[in-house]
Amino acid sequence: MRTTDKLYYLDQYLYQTQAHIATLHAEAIELDRTVAFPEGGGQEADIGTIETPVGIFRFVWTKKLYGTPLSVEGFTGVKAGGVVLHLVHPDDIDRLGALEVGMPVTITIDVERRARLTLSHTASHFLYAAALAHERELKQLTIGCHIKEDAARFDFLVETSFNAEDVSAIQTEANRLMADNLPIINDHLPEHYDARFWQYGDIYIPCGGTHLETPKAIGALQVRRKNTGKSKERLICTFEDAHIDTSCYHVDAERLAETAS
Ligand SMILES: [Zn+2]
Repeated sequence: MRTTDKLYYLDQYLYQTQAHIATLHAEAIELDRTVAFPEGGGQEADIGTIETPVGIFRFVWTKKLYGTPLSVEGFTGVKAGGVVLHLVHPDDIDRLGALEVGMPVTITIDVERRARLTLSHTASHFLYAAALAHERELKQLTIGCHIKEDAARFDFLVETSFNAEDVSAIQTEANRLMADNLPIINDHLPEHYDARFWQYGDIYIPCGGTHLETPKAIGALQVRRKNTGKSKERLICTFEDAHIDTSCYHVDAERLAETAS
């Protein structure tokens, strides 16, 4: 079974690498490896460009398909392997016919967006940990999450709405947790490369997204709530004084050099 090499798991700070076209789809390009993080665990996908011998193709979304379900406790729904598809911009689709499998390409992600999503994703874990610290049962009542560049949110199925005191307590707890500024551990189970987790002090969450190494750059977290339908409550966090730092991102010098030589 074919798989895409997920370079974002080897080094989440790679923003550019050299690759080859593995398969061409009607509206997407599949490469043998990628630095683009596919949508997953609520985190929005990377976007960017794929430079080919016949021109540049923009990709507007990244999606993971297939994969083999892992049977590891706590990692329900996680799949190993799989392929990553780069969904091509509608205006570039008619040029896909000029591409051929095996062509060398250079893929580059929108690094500013990735840095924002990484910060937002990290912030979301503090919001969630604080919500659970406030009300343990929320874990079973969680129905979704969405991590965007400028905000992150969790949806819960609850009998009673959150009130102002709940929201304030959750915001205070999230900021208290972040103020410790402990190192954030991003790792995977030794035997399963795709069984990834996030750990901060004694908070452990299975998660395959991209995260900061400490919470410092998030700044102060603002939390608010919204009712999104019958018994549906949403907690949203924003981080207006966040410090977006892309200086740690770098190109895949090794693979790019291989191609040049
Ligand atoms: Zn995460």
